Amino acid sequence: MTKESLTSWRYSWSQLQGFRQCQAYYRHKWLRFIEKKQRKTALVMGSAVHAFLEVWHKTGSRTGGLKAALAVFKEVDTSSYDQKGMQDFEVSIGIVEGMCEGYRQIHARDLKEYKEVMTELPVATTWDLGHRKVVYRGKIDMVWTDRDGLKWVVETKTASKQAITQGYFERLGYEGQVVSEFWLANKFCGPIEGVIYNVLVKPSIRRKYAKNETQAQFVQRVRDLYLSSETMEDYVIRHPILLSKTTVQEWEDETRDTLKQMDLKRMNKDKLWAKNTGQCLQKWGLCEFADACAKGANTDPSKYNTILYQRTSRDQDELDKIRMTKPWEMVKS
Ligand code: SF4
Repeated sequence: MTKESLTSWRYSWSQLQGFRQCQAYYRHKWLRFIEKKQRKTALVMGSAVHAFLEVWHKTGSRTGGLKAALAVFKEVDTSSYDQKGMQDFEVSIGIVEGMCEGYRQIHARDLKEYKEVMTELPVATTWDLGHRKVVYRGKIDMVWTDRDGLKWVVETKTASKQAITQGYFERLGYEGQVVSEFWLANKFCGPIEGVIYNVLVKPSIRRKYAKNETQAQFVQRVRDLYLSSETMEDYVIRHPILLSKTTVQEWEDETRDTLKQMDLKRMNKDKLWAKNTGQCLQKWGLCEFADACAKGANTDPSKYNTILYQRTSRDQDELDKIRMTKPWEMVKS
């Protein structure tokens, strides 16, 4: 193990969560950088909404925001889609457009109420694990300053109606990703008052192809659903979260413990990264590595089906982004 390869390792909340959920998952995704060629539509929709919000909050431009959202869809390789796949893809574009339009009108006051908006801020910090220091990186979605000068982290999510089950918001007060973002934001732009959890719910309506509904009409229908006083509260939900010192301390202790396990396992070049089959069926469907695990790729990397999977350079790209677009002062110990 060279010193350079050790120092180039970076950890993040997603890695930590992936490791806890299933070690085989962690190996596929972060040790071998394998990904499904076809990204899940739900992930594309989430990225598109984030792209819209980033531009809209920074510039106030509706068209600029929508352009950024559509650019995310343009990156998707649709060459293998059949007619039904293409229709579903168009529907997701229409839903995102309609959601963004509705959100923008409902929260038009945000542009006046909140100042010093920071968006999509990549950050990194070092974490002393005892046996060595490691780098922990993350991205802060948004930080707003309200009229009283208080700073808030804004965490935006897109979710299906079915995902908003009882307890969805209750668990956020100690949810790892929320605490991670709060912790990083405090380090880089604190003190932070709390987290505003901002949810855009995806309507489950579909475009009426049989009735010749156009994409513009469909977008209008989604937007109307967002703006209707009867359904608005079901689609745009904001939930402020105040985190206690105990919660943050517990998160730090648990995170340090998991980071140490992961780092030592990697340093020891451990051969066994166990499958946790209890995690294969996730709330959004079957795990993306189900085919790989079924074929034995966890222990034998030659077993990946290359029609389904590819090796990605995304992780390195993200690191480069942190290095190149932000000054090193952004890295704090
Ligand atoms: S399919 Fe199951 S065992 Fe395999 S990586 Fe995913 S969660 Fe782990």
